[in-house]
Formats: sequence, structure tokens, C-alpha cells
Amino acid sequence: MKAVAVLPGKPNSVHLRDVPAPGLDTQPHPHVCRIPEGRGVLVQSLQIGVDATDREINEALYGNAPPGGDHLVIGHECFGRVLAVGDRVTEVRPGDHVSCTVRRPGKSIHDLIGRNDVTGEETYYERGINLCHGFMTERFVDDAEYVVKVPQGLRHIGVLAEPASVCAKAIEQAYLAQSRLQVWNPRLAFVLGSGQIGLLATLMLRLRGLAVYTLATTPAPHLKAELVTAYGAAYVSTNQSSMGDLAKRVGRPDLIFEATGNAEACFRAMEVLAINGAMIWTSITGGSHDVRVDGARVNLEWVLGNKLLVGSVNGNRRHFELGIEALAYGELTYPGVTQRLLTHPVQGLDNYKQMMGLLEEKKALKVFVNIAD
Ligand code: BGC
Ligand code: ZN
Repeated sequence: MKAVAVLPGKPNSVHLRDVPAPGLDTQPHPHVCRIPEGRGVLVQSLQIGVDATDREINEALYGNAPPGGDHLVIGHECFGRVLAVGDRVTEVRPGDHVSCTVRRPGKSIHDLIGRNDVTGEETYYERGINLCHGFMTERFVDDAEYVVKVPQGLRHIGVLAEPASVCAKAIEQAYLAQSRLQVWNPRLAFVLGSGQIGLLATLMLRLRGLAVYTLATTPAPHLKAELVTAYGAAYVSTNQSSMGDLAKRVGRPDLIFEATGNAEACFRAMEVLAINGAMIWTSITGGSHDVRVDGARVNLEWVLGNKLLVGSVNGNRRHFELGIEALAYGELTYPGVTQRLLTHPVQGLDNYKQMMGLLEEKKALKVFVNIAD
């Protein structure tokens, strides 16, 4: 069957290759963990999304092949249909729509208790990213433990399940951490960045009833600003009004959700967070970038204001479930809005070059490959 892969360490090595089609009894990553007897789920890929992570893997900034080979099949945002299940699988059945989690457990205590999303080990195992082949193939198999059902009514936006899991986890982490305050009723949020993560965070915070300002560079009008408005939030161009000016105008935010990929934005945000506020960093800023901040002032305000910063990455199956719930509630609350994120479909795995090319385009909000109907 067809697969899209890279040769980790070699820039721009993305290519189409032929790989063996898996069956129910195939072990996709035996060097990490094995699918227990009868617990396999065989899935036909329908749509696979790509994001900056895929672009950076193709640029050879990170990503590793599974041991014993030189290639890594990419694709970590999957949506598919179940073809067959092992005789000990009760959670899904053939015909169901599903997504699949990305990370597989290492050996730390958190891995052992089902929280591989907060693994204590330096090395993490992620399908399509690090040391495990991904989903950008015609079929894949995995343990039912990692396969998450997507309701039929969400079929049109099921490819957003993985990014939604990342947002749902990040927001939940902040709320869990803020239980340190005993009472925390955030009212005002700034979301930094209006890519898929920024937009889904905007949706989820609106669903929690916060007033949301979503900040990004490009002045409106454009699709991202329209989507922010359609979710009942306000779009602010940082070319027209800085984060500091906005905070002066509308107040300091109780919650900041950072999803920019820009180190400057991460640290500027520290200057505006409200007393008792929480800031979540979710973007992965590759390379190196110096930022100047008034460290003494930030330190003083953060200590006197009991402020919190939490980094958050990945999502486990429970976060996928939370993300899918939010997508569903979002459809009921803002009907038809979320599907407008799906801007750039690519037809078939053969068009992998077009897919990678679109990732360079700023306007391409969401690039994904249609593999089957
Ligand atoms: C993925 C996460 C992953 C992270 C780090 C992100 O693009 O969505 O699942 O944990 O990259 O590799
Ligand atoms: Zn991703």
C-alpha cells in the first residue's frame, strides 16, 4: 500500500513509498509496545491532517525513524473508518469512525498509569513524529486502547480530533492547576495565534463562557478573523494594537493560551497576565531566538500576583474524548463554523508534494489529505 514518508536527518526527503499493508495481527511498533492478543483495530484512513510538525520533520529539525530502518512514515492527525476488530475489542466495531492517539508509553510512572502525555522520560514515542510510523498510509492498525471513536455526526470535522485533543488537554491542565486557588472564575482570555490550535482554543474557551480576544499579526479582514468572530470572540491584529495596548483597553486576561510558534509572543504575554492568572504555552518554537524582557518587573508581578505558567503538549485518549466533545458542542453552538477551518484538501497520497508545499503557505489554515470516502 502507499505511504508518505521522510528520511529523518535528510532535509526535504518527503516521498511516496510502498509499504506492507497491515492486518489485524500486525504489530506496528513492537520496539515500544505490543498490541495484546485480540485487541487490534484495523482502520482505513479517510483523511490525514498535517501541520507545522510535519513541515519541520521534513526540514529534518526533529523526528526519528523506528529502529532498524531509515524512513519514518509521517502523519499524526488521523481520521478513519474501522475495517476489522480483534475478538477482545468491545469499544468500536467495523464501520465506526475513529481517530487514534499519537503517543505510545515509555517506562516512567506516568507512562504506566496511562498518562504517557506527561511522560517523565526524555525520549517520547509518537506515531508519525518520533520512533513510530505514522498514519499517512491507506490503512493502519493499533491497539483499541489508543483508538478513539468519533460520532457519525462529526464525520465532516473528524480530522480535527487530534488538534482538538491538544487544545482540550492544555485548557484542562490550566484549570486543574488553578484549583490551587480554590476559587477561580476566569472571565477574560487572550488566545495568541489564529492557526488551527488558536482557533480551536478560541472555540473551547468561548464554550466555557469566557470573553475571548484572539490575537495574530495580519490585520482583518480574512478568514481567520471571520472564524474568530463567528465563534463570538474578537480578532485583534498585533500590527494594529499590541498585547499591552489591548490589556490597557479591555483589562488584563485571567487566562492566556499561547499558540504562536513565536518566542517573543510567549514572553511578551508574561507582561500582561492578570493577578492569579494562568498562561498556557502550547507552541513548539524550533531553533533559537533571544527575547528581551524586563525580568525584574515580570518576576515582581508574577510573585506578588501568584501567577501560573504551564507548558502542555500532546493528548491522551481522555483528552481526545474531551476534544471530540468540544467539537460536538461547538457544532451545536456555532453550527457550520468549524468545518470552515478545513481550507486546503489534497486529493490522494500521490499529491504529497502539493501537501508539503501548501504547508509553506500562510493562508493555508488547515491542510489535509483525502485518502478515501
Ligand atoms: C502533536 C502532538 C505531539 C507534539 C510533539 C504536535 O504537533 O500534535 O501530539 O506531542 O507535536 O511531538
Ligand atoms: Zn500536530
